[in-house]
Amino acid sequence: MNIALPILVLPLPEQNYSCHGCGNCCRDFTVQLRAADLEKLRAQEWEAKLGMSVTTEFRGTVYLKQREDGACIFLMDDGLCRIHREYGFAEKPIACQLFPFVLVPDDQRTRVGISFACQSVRENKGAVLRSHLSEIDRMSQALPQTRVATYSAMLADALGAKDGELEALAQVVDRFLARDDVAMSDRFDGLAFIASSLGRAKLAQVRAQRFTELVVLLATALPGELEHVPLDEALPKQLRLLRQAVYARIEDVQVNRAKALGRMRTVITQMLASRSFTRGKGAVPNVARGILRDTTYADIARVPRLSLSKDRDAIDALFTRYTRATILGGRAWGAGYYGWPAVRGLQALTLNLACTAWLARALAAARHHDEVTIDDARDALGRIDRHAGRAPWLGSVGERLRLEFFRLDDGLRRIVRESI
Ligand code: SF4
Repeated sequence: MNIALPILVLPLPEQNYSCHGCGNCCRDFTVQLRAADLEKLRAQEWEAKLGMSVTTEFRGTVYLKQREDGACIFLMDDGLCRIHREYGFAEKPIACQLFPFVLVPDDQRTRVGISFACQSVRENKGAVLRSHLSEIDRMSQALPQTRVATYSAMLADALGAKDGELEALAQVVDRFLARDDVAMSDRFDGLAFIASSLGRAKLAQVRAQRFTELVVLLATALPGELEHVPLDEALPKQLRLLRQAVYARIEDVQVNRAKALGRMRTVITQMLASRSFTRGKGAVPNVARGILRDTTYADIARVPRLSLSKDRDAIDALFTRYTRATILGGRAWGAGYYGWPAVRGLQALTLNLACTAWLARALAAARHHDEVTIDDARDALGRIDRHAGRAPWLGSVGERLRLEFFRLDDGLRRIVRESI
């Protein structure tokens, strides 16, 4: 018999959360159902009550049905969930109960990360995270695979992690990110610097304690080292790829829309939108439920980078909390991020930050703001983190190749500098 791993709730006292019932997750997410969820829904006899099926199947997976506007069919006008109201919280599908928590087993514990797709998480509203421990423990029992060690920790491609290496990496990077004497742009440039440097290093020859020393060396050289390796602006091909990466992160395949359009038309629509983002000319297509409607790429390019915004301190606090929560909550690599090795996961996190910054500028342009506001930044982060670690295409070979490309010509650092 397997003994359940102990639970470690995100060790970041700066982060709070309680659900404030905004209903955004019910309007925005496609809820995948497990066999136990289907059992519960059958027992609740919704089909007889509503006169229709409450589930839909798409490409072999069963989901909760959505209304025409994409919202869950159980979302009521007052923003509450009908299953919750009639049967109680514990009778909702497990994915709805667990959100925004994310359970990530490694070889010693189940880390509890948190998704910034939730409005309360972004706004840092509510109780300390540890107060949710018993509830998380109860929910995790419905997901036994999240309480057993099934994942072999990897440091880099084909290089398994040795004891303590990943913990050291997480702690050193976290300490650097928490430094309030370093400007936001330097801290995230520093993150890109560490991620890129580790990507270039021959890590097979630097193991265990020597690996820790290497990471400490890199982090303590910052931010001073950045001045010795200054950067030119991002290259046009790097900006093309950044916009393409943004599209991959905000692409919103609604099940009912995809079913109505049919597979071929859905694929063609996505291809055209992706091409538009890559070219970066003219009007931005209607993507992600119209959040960038009536915007052009030229409008977006005119919005200053985030460090020049009046809200930069609030944006800094948000981005820093997100980055630290993602690493410490186990969502940056391993089972929390497509089983990826730590170094590639760190690079992906850096790219996610650059994508968030680009999208925040795009939202500012779409809302006719002269600069990025904290609301633009929050909304952008909600969009980007919505797919991170969940959407299969972000864990694909294509995404890996994109990161490889950003390793060349200091691509990661340049796109971070360009937008943050
Ligand atoms: S987005 Fe967050 S705060 Fe809003 S309903 Fe969902 S869990 Fe609650």
